[in-house]
Amino acid sequence: MTPPELNDLPIRDDLRGLSPYGAPQLDVPVRLNTNENPYHPPDALVADLAQAVAAAATTLNRYPDREARELRDALAAYLGHGLTGDQLWAANGSNEVLQQVLQAFGGPGRRAMGFEPSYAMYRLYSLATATGWVAADAEPDYTFTEGHMVAAVERERPDVVFVTRPNNPTGSSVALGVVRAIYEAAPGMVVVDEAYQEFSAERSALELLPGRPRLIVSRTMSKAFALAGGRVGYLAADPVVVDALRLVRLPYHLSSLTQAAALAALRHSDATLADVKRLIDERERVSSGLRALGLTVVPSDSNFLLYGRFPDQSAVWQRLLERGVLVRDVHVAGWLRVTIGLPHENDTFLAAMAAVDRG
Ligand SMILES: *Cc1c(COP(=O)(O)O)cnc(C)c1O
Repeated sequence: MTPPELNDLPIRDDLRGLSPYGAPQLDVPVRLNTNENPYHPPDALVADLAQAVAAAATTLNRYPDREARELRDALAAYLGHGLTGDQLWAANGSNEVLQQVLQAFGGPGRRAMGFEPSYAMYRLYSLATATGWVAADAEPDYTFTEGHMVAAVERERPDVVFVTRPNNPTGSSVALGVVRAIYEAAPGMVVVDEAYQEFSAERSALELLPGRPRLIVSRTMSKAFALAGGRVGYLAADPVVVDALRLVRLPYHLSSLTQAAALAALRHSDATLADVKRLIDERERVSSGLRALGLTVVPSDSNFLLYGRFPDQSAVWQRLLERGVLVRDVHVAGWLRVTIGLPHENDTFLAAMAAVDRG
C-alpha cells in the first residue's frame, strides 16, 4: 500500500499543495540565519532559571496560572512607560501572540496588511486564521515613508495592519510619526512589531499607547533577550485588547515552566542587554566590512544586515554554506540577510564573503 499523501486527506482547500515554512536548521559551524542573540544566557541567569524551574516542577500536577499574572506584571515593569500587567499579554513566542491577534481581529471576510519585504509569518498567520492578506511594497530602496504607507492603508482599509520596526529583513526602522499617521488612517487594529526594539536607536511606539485602543505593540524574548529556545513573546495594548485575546487563547497556553523561565530571564535583563551593546558595535563593524568589499548594505537598526546586490543570491548563499557559514536567503532578489554573531563568527563570515565568487 502506498502511504497516504497530504492531498488524500480532506484538508482545507486553502492549505492544499502548501509546504511548511521555516529557515533551514543546518548543523554548520557559523549560523547567522535566524537573528538570535549569539551570546548564551549569562551563567547567573542559567543558575537562577534552573532553580526557578525546579521550584515550578514541584507543582506541575496543577495547571499554570492561566492569566500569567506575575509574568505580565514583570513584563510591564521591564517595559516602563507607566504600563501595568493588565496592559500586557504573553504567549509562546510573539508568533503565537500575533496569531491570536488575527484570531480575534481577523478571520473570514477580513483582511490583514503588511509592507513587503517584511516578516514572512504575517502572511502565514493570515492563512492559518483564514484572514485575507494584502501586501504593499516598500520604496525601491527598502525605506518606508509616511506618504507611501498611509496611502496604502487608505487604499486597502485593512482590518489589521502590521508595521515592523525595525523591519525584518531590511533592518530599517519606521519613524514614530509614521506610526501615528498610520493609526489615524487605519480603520482597524494597528500592530507594531518591535521584535528588535532593544537594538534600535528609535523610540518605542509604547509611548503612543495612551488614548489609542486600536494600537498593539508586540515584543519578544527571542532576540535581544537571548531566550529564543524559551518561546516567550508578549504585547502591550489597552486592557480591552487583552480581553479580546482571552476569547481566543487556549486555556493554560503558557506552561508553568515557561512562565518561571521568563521571570528568571527578566530578573537578569541588565546582564543580557549588556551583550546587546556589543552586538550593535559588531553590526557597525560588519557593515563597514561588507562595504569595504564593495557591497551595498541597507542601514540597520537591528541585529542583522540586508546586503547585496548579487545577480543570483541563492548561489552566493550556497557558496557561503560550503564554507560553513549559514546566512539567510529571504528570497528578496539580489540580497542576503546576515545575523550579527560573535566577533570570531563575524570574522569568518567576512572572510568567506571576501573569498566567494559573487557572480
Ligand atoms: C523573530 C521575529 C519575531 C519573533 O518571533 P518569536 O515567535 O517571538 O520567536 C517576531 N517578529 C519579527 C519581525 C521577527 O523577526
